[in-house]
Amino acid sequence: MSSRALIFDRVSAVRERIGEIAGSRPVDVMAVTKYRTREEALWAVEAGVDAVGENRIQEARDKWAEEKPRVPLHAIGHVQTNKVKYGINLFDSIDSVDSDKLGDLLNQKSEQSLAVMVEVNVGGEETKSGLTPDQVLPFISAAARWDRLRISGLMTVLPALRENSVEETRRIRQHMQEMADLWRMCRSEGFPWAPLEHLSMGMTGDWEWAVEAGSTMIRLGALIFGPRPMK
Ligand SMILES: *Cc1c(COP(=O)(O)O)cnc(C)c1O
Repeated sequence: MSSRALIFDRVSAVRERIGEIAGSRPVDVMAVTKYRTREEALWAVEAGVDAVGENRIQEARDKWAEEKPRVPLHAIGHVQTNKVKYGINLFDSIDSVDSDKLGDLLNQKSEQSLAVMVEVNVGGEETKSGLTPDQVLPFISAAARWDRLRISGLMTVLPALRENSVEETRRIRQHMQEMADLWRMCRSEGFPWAPLEHLSMGMTGDWEWAVEAGSTMIRLGALIFGPRPMK
């Protein structure tokens, strides 16, 4: 487990580096708190992260149902439609919407207006959820029918770097560019229900490239809290 001081140091180092890369352009830092204790997560909030992200609904409920963090709580993992009835209202944003069925259900079950992001599988990987890039604009256009959902961004998990080579690096960065282009194109439609403030892209292994490519929100677990604890 990381100490409070370590977490503070890591968050401020990230902020500093963001400033070097992005200048005055704001980039939000989300602390991804899966497998971390509530105490560790709250230290990250104290250290000034902009949001907290949880992968699993049950874990999020155990950690946050009694008292939420004072920054927005996002669901970032794949949401099975049969889990929506448990505690979707705990979250301020669902960042992993990737089907009509899930959108329909969230719209139906949400007690108030709910921010959601559309998850994009930009690498076309079979093991990942998310829409393919060409499905994104039609999906967002059709989201007008969900009167309670506000499409606040696109979210993606990039393919992992298979090796540390120039080609591999180029491949990942091309996907990031593709995401940034897609995000700008969707924003330019100006749909009132889809302001798309965020491009949520970049994790511990690739966040600096993501910020360079135009990400507005990076999601950091290991970089803030240390290596993931063993089960
Ligand atoms: C776990 C996770 C992260 C954070 O991963 P790290 O590599 O620990 O920074 C970000 N996004 C999603 C969707 C995750 O599941």
